[in-house]
Amino acid sequence: MASAGRIVLRGGRVIDRSLNIDHVCDVIIVGDVIEALVDCGGQYDGNDDVRDVSGCLVVPGLIDLHIHGYEHATPLGIDVDKYCLHRGVTTAVDAGSAGATTFPGLRKFIAEKSRTRLLAYLNISMHGLASAGCSGYGLGGELDSAKQINADSAAKCIEENRDMIVGIKIRLSADGANDGKNEQLAMRTALECAKRVQLPVMAHHSMSTVKLGGEEEVLSCPGSLRPGDVYTHFYHAYESTVVDVSEPHPVGGYSKFDPAVLEARKHGVLMDIGHGQGSFSWTIAELGAKEGQWPDVISTDLHTGSMDGPAYDLPTVMTKMLHVGMPLLDIITAVTATPAECCGRADKHQLRPGAEADVTVLRLDDCSTHLEDSQAQLRHVTKRILPVAVWRAGEEADIILPEVWPNTARMPTLSKEWKKLLVKDAKAPEAMAALQ
Ligand SMILES: [Zn+2]
Repeated sequence: MASAGRIVLRGGRVIDRSLNIDHVCDVIIVGDVIEALVDCGGQYDGNDDVRDVSGCLVVPGLIDLHIHGYEHATPLGIDVDKYCLHRGVTTAVDAGSAGATTFPGLRKFIAEKSRTRLLAYLNISMHGLASAGCSGYGLGGELDSAKQINADSAAKCIEENRDMIVGIKIRLSADGANDGKNEQLAMRTALECAKRVQLPVMAHHSMSTVKLGGEEEVLSCPGSLRPGDVYTHFYHAYESTVVDVSEPHPVGGYSKFDPAVLEARKHGVLMDIGHGQGSFSWTIAELGAKEGQWPDVISTDLHTGSMDGPAYDLPTVMTKMLHVGMPLLDIITAVTATPAECCGRADKHQLRPGAEADVTVLRLDDCSTHLEDSQAQLRHVTKRILPVAVWRAGEEADIILPEVWPNTARMPTLSKEWKKLLVKDAKAPEAMAALQ
């Protein structure tokens, strides 16, 4: 239950990029709403629950735009509260675990039972990720049968669940789509349906037959995405990477992003990290830093293969972006204001009087850790973004950090994928680890 009295978060650095707020003040919560932001030095009495958060950042509740939360019903599904709310995330968006025929269970058994606010992108495939979902393991995928790709059923499901569905998810990966034969059909259907229901598409694009850009008659990704659509797995290093691999850099590796990606960004397609098990490369993140190609959204793609490393949780992925030099304020925007806009919640998700009290308190700690990317390439990280406290609609939830961080036991499995990467460090992860 929300506390009967006032909760006062005293003396933190309060940041809300959507309201241009960045100053030290007190945030007062009453019941399930924010009552006021007031200058420091206010008088509080014994009935007030005053928390000293000086030295911390106080931000709107974090939003993780890409997770898989359909636990027990899909192989990828995680415990949403454990990995989201208890790590400082008040809103999580399931990215296509459910399609039109499996969505009612996501709503009834997960969203209605979670303390985390759960929203969803609906998979354009009717059965979503009910069975398959991890491409590359010979398991098949949700787009193997063209009969499952259906705009009418998706549109009907969306109309019935507009309070929860924020867009349409498509996973463009050849081995999840009948060896690529169904990728064009799936993309065309997703775009058609999105246009009909006036919602954005979130596209996964990895090891796909769909090109990054190109002529209009053949769909490309992100080339055919529209302003406001989301291109997830921005920093993956497999085939279909955003890095231009046609021109090797003279001293090795690659030096720039594909022109089709830059063009898509220019016309308003949003880039999302979607870290996951396979989709975050330190090498590409560093190239992104060099080129100023920061993501618009930072998300985890948390699922059973990424929750205990290499993604862990949203603050860990934020920590990785801080390490490569993304400005702190841009990191905050990428987990609050921008994903709120993607979900159509820009005006609701704010630190202003009367707004629902979703609030996260963060702290920057010193650390000294060799943190892995998706293929166990390591970097020495010295600053960590930690969740300290969280309120969801005025109710506090405990922060429970990962027990093992980083999870070195998982790294040998991750490093096996290194040889498949198009863009990578000069040395294999094992060789690098030996030098640490
Ligand atoms: Zn995903």
